[in-house]
Amino acid sequence: MIDLVEEISHLKKQKQATILAHYYQEGEIQELADFTGDSLKLARAATQVETPVIVFCGVHFMAETAKMLNPEKQVLLPDLQAGCSLADSCPANKLARFQEMLRENGRKLHTVTYINSSAAVKALSDWIVTSGNAEEIIRRVPAEYEILFAPDRHLGQYLQEVTGRKMILWNGSCMVHEIFSVGDLLKVKKQMPRALTIAHPECPANIREHSDFVGGTEGMLKYVGGFKEPMDFLVATEANMMWQLESKFSRHRYHPVPGITCACNKCPHMARNTLEKLRDCLAAGRPEITWQPEFGKAREVLQRSLLN
Ligand code: SF4
Repeated sequence: MIDLVEEISHLKKQKQATILAHYYQEGEIQELADFTGDSLKLARAATQVETPVIVFCGVHFMAETAKMLNPEKQVLLPDLQAGCSLADSCPANKLARFQEMLRENGRKLHTVTYINSSAAVKALSDWIVTSGNAEEIIRRVPAEYEILFAPDRHLGQYLQEVTGRKMILWNGSCMVHEIFSVGDLLKVKKQMPRALTIAHPECPANIREHSDFVGGTEGMLKYVGGFKEPMDFLVATEANMMWQLESKFSRHRYHPVPGITCACNKCPHMARNTLEKLRDCLAAGRPEITWQPEFGKAREVLQRSLLN
């Protein structure tokens, strides 16, 4: 393991690469990264990178986003198969047909799309949001337009609640956040009545209802950081987030909210990236995300939504 870490550090220098890692990556990968963050923070960080090579330790749509924002850089993803169940729940051809059907019925709409989506879906959108900026963008959409929100119905429901803006919701979801068990959460809350529950807005309403704080991963860090005395937190998001919480605010104790099928929810797509694959992709300069025709339109939407 020490050899592997040294090898990666050496290759990183030799290949002039910058490593970006999402909070849902294993701690050993986050530890090696130059930047860690949620999707919004990493998309913005990608535009600050000075080296010619970016290695994106996350899933495919995130690496695509980094490439769109940095067309001249080489963007590598340790495992090209690292996908996302949420992005897969909204194929571009189906979204295009649905938009067409709504417009044929005389509906004037803006499509607001969560960043967890393919480049082709982003290219069909008016706005791209992350859990960190979604409220702000939704408030920007002129009142005379209806909003079609894709692909996460749970995040969409949550945004309807906080903004008071009714939206047409695409019926997609994240396999990791959908399987938290409200029964098990209530059991743990009984055992630890003083613990606070923090939940990602991709969680279903029955989990959010029993939470003290709902927000994206950056929001969670800010929230727990505000407590000066040691606390217990029940965490309803991908289990690797606990590593980031523990490393930034070690005075607190963190407990994963159990899922229906297992004690901790890890994203199988994120887990495809390993230290070995990170080393191999640095050494070989692949797998690489190459520029696709739809990237141009998607880039315009991304820039308008995330960088301005
Ligand atoms: S945690 Fe959910 S939304 Fe995030 S990459 Fe995995 S499947 Fe997609």
